[in-house]
Amino acid sequence: MQMVDGLISNNEMQIMDPRRRLCALANTPRVKAILDISSIPGLEQITADDAEDAQGNFTDTIEVAYLTIQVAIFRKIIDGYVTRTDELSPDVTPIEATGVFKKMVEDNEYSLTKQPDILVKKLHYVLSGCYDKHDEDTNLSLSGIAFNYYGGPDGRRRMDEAVYTALLRSRLLIPSTATYRTCACNARVDLSTDPFHGLCCRAFNNGEAAYATRRSEECERILLDYAKKLAPAVNAQYALEAEGLREQRVGRRADAVTANLVTVKHGNALGGTYFHDVIRNDGTTQSKEVQADIVISTDPGNNQPIRDHLFDVTIREPTAKKIVDESLLQERRIAYGRASEIGVEHKAKQYADAHALRGDARVPVTAYPIVIESNGAITKESANSLRFLATLGCSSMQHAASKVQELRTLLAYTVATNNGLMLTKTTIHSN
Ligand SMILES: [Zn+2]
Repeated sequence: MQMVDGLISNNEMQIMDPRRRLCALANTPRVKAILDISSIPGLEQITADDAEDAQGNFTDTIEVAYLTIQVAIFRKIIDGYVTRTDELSPDVTPIEATGVFKKMVEDNEYSLTKQPDILVKKLHYVLSGCYDKHDEDTNLSLSGIAFNYYGGPDGRRRMDEAVYTALLRSRLLIPSTATYRTCACNARVDLSTDPFHGLCCRAFNNGEAAYATRRSEECERILLDYAKKLAPAVNAQYALEAEGLREQRVGRRADAVTANLVTVKHGNALGGTYFHDVIRNDGTTQSKEVQADIVISTDPGNNQPIRDHLFDVTIREPTAKKIVDESLLQERRIAYGRASEIGVEHKAKQYADAHALRGDARVPVTAYPIVIESNGAITKESANSLRFLATLGCSSMQHAASKVQELRTLLAYTVATNNGLMLTKTTIHSN
């Protein structure tokens, strides 16, 4: 097998059961110490399954093979930074292992031979691109979609060659040819080892809105347009259901049946409506305004309270300084979806006890975070938000799946195109 050359050893290839081989790789101590393998979508299930009752059908085998290569790639990346202590050349002084690397060097079997910050970035970045189509939580991932060629007249799916190349290179961790550069943000970056700087840098654009801002605004716009376009169909569905109910009832009881009415609004147009309580340092509470990106309201009629659903869209970088520093300082293993987790926590704080102020009444609202990682990951909470948005909360809505697919594709292209622009801009604007 030429393809696995250097990724998987001959000994490992001798393991005939593909699942056992995958488990052996996932349990390699240096991988296990640094990565939370079970956080990778689809992996926990396969590695936890009793190998005895594994029904080896074709799809399973392909998926196990795919995951095996994935884990082998992670190990290969790690191996660029660590060496077996007994194979360490005498003129190499190992680097002091901190954070997540502490555990790996604990029994002295392995030593850290290079500053690990780029390794940490690579691992978080590649993890963020993991995708398992059978996983309920990740099947809304945007990972890799932008590399499908759709063709056709839809300009939203076209990208500049330079942008596409930058994107593909970063995705495959192919180093840039640009060595030490001073970025517009004044950071001295070696793009040949740290290709992610452009995704995290917020410094440039010659007065234009930063690509990062544009990227989230475009995603917000896509979701808003989608929801607005869907509203009439959802309202028609509610009207139909109400009519059905009315036919089953008589007299006043029939008249009392009202149809839900859904409206979709851009959060920008809703100043002075939503607030949440913030506790000041001195213990007193202060009411602070919150501004959602998209608001979907359901009015059940009959003077019943309107339910507001507040959506907040944010794109997060898996290689952000905060995340890298955390791995270098804390022993917590590197896991899939960390940027999402931080983003969702942040949003939960921002929307804690959020309510609509209607006169003097505080009407509770529901907040829906949509956190998208720049390399594609969309975790549980955000996937739930997207599913709700895809039907505007109307559970009897038909054919939502194909619309969600369209939505996902548009989001994927928008995020990817702006990523590519961010990556190319660092190279252009640095010197
Ligand atoms: Zn910069």
